Amino acid sequence: MWLTLSLCLSLLSPRFQPPQTPWFRASLVGMEVGPTGAQFGSDPSDIGYAARFNGREVVQKCVKAHSEYVVIWARDGEYAYYDSKFQPKAPGLGKRDVLREAVEEARRLHIPLIAYCVLQYPAQTLRARPEWRARDKDGKPIDHLVCFNSPYREFIKQQLGEMLSYGIDGFHLDMVDQGFGAPHGCWCDYCKREFEKENGSPLPKGVAWNAEWNSILEFRYRTSQRFERDLAAYVRSTNPATTVDFNYHGNPPFSWEVGQRPVQHANNGDFVTGETGVWGFGALTVGLNAEFYRASTPNSPFQVAMQRGVRMYHDQTTRPLADIRWEMFTLLAHGAFVTMVDKTAYDGWLDPLAYDRIGEAFAEVRRKREHFGHTPVAEVGIWFSSGTRDWVGRDKPSDYFQSFQGAQRALVYEHIPYGVVLDENANLETLQKYPVICLPNVGILKAKEIALLTTYTMQGGNLVVTGLSGCYDERGNLQKESGLETLIGAKFKGKLNSLDNHVRLPARSVLQENAALEEGIRPDWHFLVKGYAGIFAPTTALPVGELLKPHRTVRQLQGKEGTDWPQSADSPVGAAILLNTVGKGRVLAFTGSPDYATGSEHAISEARYLLRNAIRLLNPKPRVRITAPATVESVITDDPATRTLRIHVLGYNSPPQTIPAHDRPFVLPALMEEAPLFRVQVEVSQPFKSAVALNKKTRLTRRGSRIEALVEEVHEVLILKY
Ligand SMILES: [Zn+2]
Repeated sequence: MWLTLSLCLSLLSPRFQPPQTPWFRASLVGMEVGPTGAQFGSDPSDIGYAARFNGREVVQKCVKAHSEYVVIWARDGEYAYYDSKFQPKAPGLGKRDVLREAVEEARRLHIPLIAYCVLQYPAQTLRARPEWRARDKDGKPIDHLVCFNSPYREFIKQQLGEMLSYGIDGFHLDMVDQGFGAPHGCWCDYCKREFEKENGSPLPKGVAWNAEWNSILEFRYRTSQRFERDLAAYVRSTNPATTVDFNYHGNPPFSWEVGQRPVQHANNGDFVTGETGVWGFGALTVGLNAEFYRASTPNSPFQVAMQRGVRMYHDQTTRPLADIRWEMFTLLAHGAFVTMVDKTAYDGWLDPLAYDRIGEAFAEVRRKREHFGHTPVAEVGIWFSSGTRDWVGRDKPSDYFQSFQGAQRALVYEHIPYGVVLDENANLETLQKYPVICLPNVGILKAKEIALLTTYTMQGGNLVVTGLSGCYDERGNLQKESGLETLIGAKFKGKLNSLDNHVRLPARSVLQENAALEEGIRPDWHFLVKGYAGIFAPTTALPVGELLKPHRTVRQLQGKEGTDWPQSADSPVGAAILLNTVGKGRVLAFTGSPDYATGSEHAISEARYLLRNAIRLLNPKPRVRITAPATVESVITDDPATRTLRIHVLGYNSPPQTIPAHDRPFVLPALMEEAPLFRVQVEVSQPFKSAVALNKKTRLTRRGSRIEALVEEVHEVLILKY
């Protein structure tokens, strides 16, 4: 019986991987499994906790569900789940060693076994070694945070060494954040000594957005990087075949407080890995996270973790299959490989329904394998600036993120394929992958970045610039001039002290060859484009339309009433759009912020159309042009070796929600239960031989260079041979 079962399991196990291919280059989907019940602490007398958490069973069930690797919890904040000299084992395990069970079973079934190990929030260790806690600016201990400059670094290496001796294939190390908000660290004695050694001056006190604070910011970034690199080097020196990945927090909504920069902290392990989830970050962020990780580690595989639970980890619920499939295929279409996180029941029991659904979803991935991992075909690169995040965003980085995320939202709704461009690693080659680069309120642009953007434009690239891009110095102070004045073809005259600004476009006859700007927008009508705005005086640019400041009531002018709620339009203060030609390229600058508006709670469709129309004006004939509902996300890839264009379409179908029980009006989206029915039209500018849909029930018709598909599915791939 046992032999038969193991034979069946080996037949179900993933395709054979030649030893020279690391597991993370050969995998599309895997699982992470850990127990539930100690995440908020644990009493040592709680012997029911994790009593049935069994490494052998976890590996078997993951393999049966078509998982291609298994991440098993070996260490969390409270316990080890193996026999450790450094941390108590979960008492309910008795004599059992979950890591040993998992490693033995994984070896038998030829599946990579990764050990999950907590780094930050080591509650048990900090009770034993309180002197390793991070400290705030006044030297007061921050009870839940460990300092990465303390001897904890050597301590954790010893514990990693224990786990390495089991013969694991990799580590998932979670996390290297320095906290997600106040109180900020760290002003402990270890940090003071290290800072003085590196800087030759004492550690300045407290958060202050000045030159001294810059030295602390850099010190914090170096601290996280040193910690990551040190652990990775230790693992490689002990066993070079063991992989290391760190849970990543370089992308929005995370900012300087976690101690990570997008590129600096994505490249210290074998690949980058991060988390997503509609419950915490919204449906649009699923694809955005994948694209962000791609940009932070060019030419490397990147992993995104999602979860089977409805609301958050450890909630013991299972999402409908459609909901799981939508998120998973969105990640895969964007080129990520995916870890599904399962948290067991209190005693370690594995929910069979969850494994049924995950198994069904993973089997579908296996069937569709050849359709993932190809080169993205993107039209717009959205510039993300870590300098702006830190120095304009400061303690409220969401204000800056709203422009970046609003631009992404507009592009997804309009089916304009995008990628992310990061200030830390952008070069001419990065920019030239895109016909258009969008600068969404990128307040800080260094001289070398402006030079790069100028070369890109001179050689035929196009720029869309919004709001106050280029108007701040490196420390986030508003300047009298914008660094982009030559590119924009206008002089910066000042910032409007209002967010409720308006735009009015002239009649089509006035726009003439720029009439594309008006598509979907009523001419001679002003509408709210909420967000930052500046007044610019054209030098070489053609001014188009008007930017209007808002009315202010007498009470508002007296300072007795706030201005958060939008007011109606008052009089024009300058042009809405500036069109400039630079070398072989063009620059279209919005003096307001249609990106911020699209990301805001006062998003109107016309604000989004402004961005879409700008891109269509600059790049009128993209390689592929898609028309589909805003609820459908599309991803285009090219496989030049087989001359295959693929258009992935993902139908999001969240049903309506009711009044939330708390935090009204903030509504969490409902779970997808069924596949949507939608129509996709595709216009292809290059000749192609054939077009087929992957799903048999999709109705596909072709007329010349146009195809149309009626899809009733969560995920469809339209496959074009050229
Ligand atoms: Zn410290």
